[in-house]
Amino acid sequence: MDMPREEYALALLRSCYGYDSFRGQQWEIISHTLDGGDSIVLMPTGGGKSLCYQIPGLMSEDGFAIVISPLLALMNDQIDALQQNGVPALALNSEKSDTENRQTVELLMQGKVKLLYISPEKLLSEIDRWSQGITSRICLFAVDEAHCISQWGHDFRPEYTQLGALKQRFPHVPVMALTATADRITRDDIARQLRIPQARLFISSFDRPNISLNVVQGSTGKQKFRQIVQFINLHRGESGIIYCLRRKDTEKMAADLTRMGIKAEPFHAAMSVKEKQRVQRDFINDDLKVVCATIAFGMGIDKSNVRYVIHSNMPRNIEGYYQEIGRAGRDGLPADALMFYNYGDMVTLQFFAKQSGQVQVNMDKLRRMQQFAESGVCRRRVLLNYFNERFDHDCHNCDVCDNPPERFDGTRLAQMALSAIKRTDEQAGMYMVTDILRGWRKADIIDKGYDRLKTFGVGRYLTSGEWNAYLLQMLQLGLFEVAYDENNHLKITEFGNEVLYGRRTIELNRFQRRDIKKRPAEQPAIMPDTPATSTKQMDKALFERLRDLRKAIATASHIAPYMVFSDKSLTAMAIEKPTTQSEFAIIYGVGEMKCQKYWRPFTATIRDHLANH
Ligand code: ADP
Ligand code: ZN
Repeated sequence: MDMPREEYALALLRSCYGYDSFRGQQWEIISHTLDGGDSIVLMPTGGGKSLCYQIPGLMSEDGFAIVISPLLALMNDQIDALQQNGVPALALNSEKSDTENRQTVELLMQGKVKLLYISPEKLLSEIDRWSQGITSRICLFAVDEAHCISQWGHDFRPEYTQLGALKQRFPHVPVMALTATADRITRDDIARQLRIPQARLFISSFDRPNISLNVVQGSTGKQKFRQIVQFINLHRGESGIIYCLRRKDTEKMAADLTRMGIKAEPFHAAMSVKEKQRVQRDFINDDLKVVCATIAFGMGIDKSNVRYVIHSNMPRNIEGYYQEIGRAGRDGLPADALMFYNYGDMVTLQFFAKQSGQVQVNMDKLRRMQQFAESGVCRRRVLLNYFNERFDHDCHNCDVCDNPPERFDGTRLAQMALSAIKRTDEQAGMYMVTDILRGWRKADIIDKGYDRLKTFGVGRYLTSGEWNAYLLQMLQLGLFEVAYDENNHLKITEFGNEVLYGRRTIELNRFQRRDIKKRPAEQPAIMPDTPATSTKQMDKALFERLRDLRKAIATASHIAPYMVFSDKSLTAMAIEKPTTQSEFAIIYGVGEMKCQKYWRPFTATIRDHLANH
């Protein structure tokens, strides 16, 4: 429709970022924003959220976009990366001196800033002091990590709840809320609290197809450690994160690995700020390849070439798990997620959940995590269905797909269950549904008249354990969801209705009693056949030389290697082998600024390499 506008946006995308096209819904989101619309953007980590608010800021003639972000470290990283691309971005935060902050406001006045990053508390205290000259230039409020607003979420931050004031004060400035957490409750909370009821919802696929999903059940102690060492040895030279439950586990893991000749360092909340910053910096700069961390690590890290994430224990919930594994492979190249899960984890995690402020919610989330760990169906299906995304095929990039259990047509069983759920008007939880199917005349079933339902007792021939397992699978397949905010009642999804009315069929795994404790030693090989970094058509030796060059440049200019170029850009160079400035300019991730700065050393290295091979 509006071609010039889109062309301008694409020109900026090419010149500032070195990308040729928008990804997924990016352009739709941007153009909706340019039209003044509010939006809620749900995209997985690494999906490309940042561009959605950066481009509108860049396109605005004399205005600027405000980016609200809770994490100072991440803010600074983003700004460094933007400045590398020649984008005028600045931050206002408590880490900066008053003079610096005053200068920033001055530059805002002069219209010299396109993106202003700021923490929520700083924004709310600051904005009232800004002159009309500044506030009238605001073209967008982007609320990053918007799930922090929800008490139901896993990362609640009270200061976020004040942000509703923005829409009240500036009703004409579009608000864009962005998050990688997609559940319905969080989403509703965001719209309500930010006062953007009309916001258009943009949901991208949460799939990260390049991350291979693997779970190892039952390994403990030394055996688990051996498997971790084995895994890391297969990924030598690559960056990885090992998540541990407790602080002391991170320390022990790092010490044990170091003893095995794998340099690793711990990272946890009780370390000094300086120590934490040093570990983060070394990791980002590729001076340290392996970090053993609690979940405190990674929040502020935007490193695109993390090649694997190991969970040495099961995480507390799927949101956290997904966010953590999402730190791997942000560059889109193959990466591995490997999770260990045993009975002991379950006990510890239940204890944590019961001590937490929201026992019910946390226990339920833990149960869903456990279902993922024990899944007999494709793990990606479980994950994506958890985020209410319909994903109805096997991924062929997880351990269950690689090692499929016995399947059968479960449509009839599903119809029984779905019909029972429907007949309770979706007012029953999982256990109640099981009891109805099994025809148990207990008091609350009779009270509610469920014993007169047509489905009462139709599933008598299965044990409650079997029903339990099959209902779990159906939940994982996305036939129904659990409403945490409504007594955990089961709610049938659109997909569930299709199955109920015979328009779709489903397959289930034959129920087998599995004793987790007995399974350890004979675990199937956990290692993927191919190394994480794909080498197809790529000149591996050249890639390594370019990686060294990148490291040297980064060190000399005191920035992180990935800010010079991503692994993906280096891969593209090692495939395309550009030897001139114009060939270099069209490589993935090479914008105008970076082309100017870097074409000489990179093409020189490539020419030299070609001459000697
Ligand atoms: P998120 O904030 O959603 O986690 P980012 O905005 O950091 O993700 O984007 C992830 C990676 O994808 C970054 O390296 C980014 O530069 C890259 N990216 C984003 N959009 C595009 C695009 N249209 N084309 C190519 N790469 C992109
Ligand atoms: Zn799969």
